[in-house]
Amino acid sequence: MGFCIFNNIAIGARYAQQKHGAGRVLIADWDVHHGNGTQEIFYGDGSVFFFSTHQYPWYPGTGSSEETGYGEGEGRTLNCPFPAGAGRKEIIGAFRDKLVPAAEEFKPDLVLISAGFDSRAGDPLGHFQLTDADFEELTNIMLEIADVHSHSRLVSVLEGGYSLSGLASAVRAHVQTLSGQTVKAGSGTSRP
Ligand SMILES: [Zn+2]
Repeated sequence: MGFCIFNNIAIGARYAQQKHGAGRVLIADWDVHHGNGTQEIFYGDGSVFFFSTHQYPWYPGTGSSEETGYGEGEGRTLNCPFPAGAGRKEIIGAFRDKLVPAAEEFKPDLVLISAGFDSRAGDPLGHFQLTDADFEELTNIMLEIADVHSHSRLVSVLEGGYSLSGLASAVRAHVQTLSGQTVKAGSGTSRP
């Protein structure tokens, strides 16, 4: 729609299924925008579970909690929309209380993250309030899901993020957490 020509994470999910035999793929999207393209591509597909937290109502207009998939994909889309100003409580809460049990039921062979950092505080487009520490916690939740279900197979794909310093700082925290490094206090200072 407005931002992307190719849907990297959808291509990655299909590639993993077709070339590497991943049966069930879980995609979690913490970008501040609803992942409308990803949702649409897999809306009727029972083999891909799509979870998204996003600012709502907002661009691109989709992503209400009523949108849950259809046919074989019924129940495989889980939207958690939140108003502008939402932050740690709402978003980490949704990952813990909605995504973790959904993953328990879905049992993914592969976990993918649509890692958008326009949900970070200070982003010029988004109006969520996540901090670098919150992204570390979200990353740890995803690592736990992958540890439990997918033999730790997890791939993170960069999505939005429009504050260059905020993006650099949040990506650093995310990648350090993925790599198992402890993020030092005060390391959020950015050098874009
Ligand atoms: Zn975005």
